[in-house]
Amino acid sequence: MINPFERFDKIREILIERNRFYSKRLKDPKTFEEIPFTTKSELVEDQTQNPPFGTDLTYPVENYVRIHQTSGTAGKPLAWLDTKESWDWWLRCWAEVYSGANVRAGDRVYVAFSFGPFIGFWATPTYALRLAEVAAQQGIDLVQGPIRTTVHAGEPGASIPETRRRIQEAFGARTFDHVGMTEMGAYGFECEMQSGLHINEDEFIVEMIDPGTLRPVDPGTKGEMVLTNLGRLGSPLIRYRTGDLGVLSREPCACGRQWARLMGGVLGRADDMITIRGVNVFPSAIENIVRRHSQVVEFAIEVSRRREMHELSLKVELENSAGEIIERLRADISKNLNIRATIEHVPAGSLPRFELKSRRLRVVD
Ligand SMILES: [Zn+2]
Repeated sequence: MINPFERFDKIREILIERNRFYSKRLKDPKTFEEIPFTTKSELVEDQTQNPPFGTDLTYPVENYVRIHQTSGTAGKPLAWLDTKESWDWWLRCWAEVYSGANVRAGDRVYVAFSFGPFIGFWATPTYALRLAEVAAQQGIDLVQGPIRTTVHAGEPGASIPETRRRIQEAFGARTFDHVGMTEMGAYGFECEMQSGLHINEDEFIVEMIDPGTLRPVDPGTKGEMVLTNLGRLGSPLIRYRTGDLGVLSREPCACGRQWARLMGGVLGRADDMITIRGVNVFPSAIENIVRRHSQVVEFAIEVSRRREMHELSLKVELENSAGEIIERLRADISKNLNIRATIEHVPAGSLPRFELKSRRLRVVD
């Protein structure tokens, strides 16, 4: 394995010479740690100022053969270009994802995804549960079907134990998590041990920082993941603040891979955390509790402000009539998260269904 920093130094020389976005940023710093972080808002601003593709392009535009667009869940979508070499690099990164999920030559892969400018071959956990819901309505028994493995990304759900359990039970298959970003690449995946998400450290440099102080966090401490990709020379990202929070472990994995793992997957987004009466909560923690209750078909989280305090309320669609499930769910949230929630039973089919990334959290100020 080539030392990733040696590989980075070679890329750096090319970017200083040819890439308008990174040329200035990379010129002066003496060490890797002195290079400024790149943020998504800087990329959005760059594309606004230099439409339509911005200045993070190392080559003339005719060298690019693919265009992709971010989902726009958190604002204006980014457009992202790839050269033939960058696209081949994506495919190599995805090969690691398949290898981790034990997908082999001879397997048939069904892509549960609509083909738009959004990049991906997987299904979100939300969409997988939606497919299972429709299958049940149509009397199709997925468990008896041939699906052996499902691979998910786009939301942390497949690493949320209760969401994973529901998908596995619905499909009669083993469910694997995978993480990637349109502007970064397919950087993480689960191996057969299903003990955290491996970061593909052949192709990415990973750092964990405190999002407040921007200093590195101690190993085993929750931090924001900062990534650098090493094989996407046409449209690279150097020290990119992903906004994804996690805990990185360098303990060896039983699968034999040496790559670090994000324990429990992506634990939340730095910009997603909500504070309810002094308690910090991530939507993924709420989801893990809601999914324990099999009668809940779909749900939405609303945070509103009353007398300067944030209040949590949940809307739930239930399989059958309400019964005592509402009370049990309320007790479960209070016991596990130490917060009080108002829970409202809403009619079946009234909450939005999501094919791309779900937006179940709404903050009303
Ligand atoms: Zn492993």
